[in-house]
Amino acid sequence: VRRAWVGTPGVLRYPTPEQFEARITGRRLLRVGRHGKFMLVELDPPRAAGGEGDAQLELLVVHLGMTGRLGLAEPEAPPPRHTHMRLLLSSGVELRMQDYRRFGRVLLGSPAELSAAGALPRLGPEPVTAAQPNPESWRGFRGDLSLREFSRILRRSRRPVKALLLDQGKIAGLGNIYCDEACFRAGVRPTAVAATIGPARRRRLHEGIAAALASAVDLRGSSVDDYRDGFGEKGRNQHALLVYGRTGQPCARCGRPLAKTVVAGRTTVFCPRCQR
Ligand SMILES: [Zn+2]
Repeated sequence: VRRAWVGTPGVLRYPTPEQFEARITGRRLLRVGRHGKFMLVELDPPRAAGGEGDAQLELLVVHLGMTGRLGLAEPEAPPPRHTHMRLLLSSGVELRMQDYRRFGRVLLGSPAELSAAGALPRLGPEPVTAAQPNPESWRGFRGDLSLREFSRILRRSRRPVKALLLDQGKIAGLGNIYCDEACFRAGVRPTAVAATIGPARRRRLHEGIAAALASAVDLRGSSVDDYRDGFGEKGRNQHALLVYGRTGQPCARCGRPLAKTVVAGRTTVFCPRCQR
């Protein structure tokens, strides 16, 4: 990072803009991973650390929120409106984040520092996907969600299963779209009480989550609204969605009209016949 700039008020949540710019300038972006909806960019050890020993892990953390976009641009190109972060890289391009609703987040620090500052919410385990496994060495972030652990989380909850799946502290990474898609794939009614779902259906739901996320990753995202990839392109998964946004349209399995309800304040689409 040759030069850094963050806007205020913007999407930076930690530390202060001055500290952020000073701390990230001169650092190298080593590798990129993800936990749930949080992108994690590992930085090389801070200069002050120097010498021997266990260098402190530091991360640039980015959450796109509702309308955030992260992409590369030529530094000479005028930044579009609602650009909140610009990092001029040694490759000559600029990494920029735009977000007109500002629900996105940018953080910089070690996992311990960020959690002490209350800047990074506690996240549950990451569902099994083939995409970007979280490197084990990134302390403080838990790995793949096994069927066994998934079952334990469901058995302990009296909430509607969709409300549980949306809770990032229980399972990280599922938003409204993918909860509905996973429940449909599993034949599970989103309003079903989590603890009442039996082993066979828990297994199908565990598989349904992985399949719904894998489809989205393969098709480069669901651009039902504002989402664009790092090159500014729309994803294609919105055309592959089985229930989300399809209220009243025929169920892909039985042909009857899909129904709509509300769970945890979110619009929820399901098939009354195929999902019990
Ligand atoms: Zn159906």
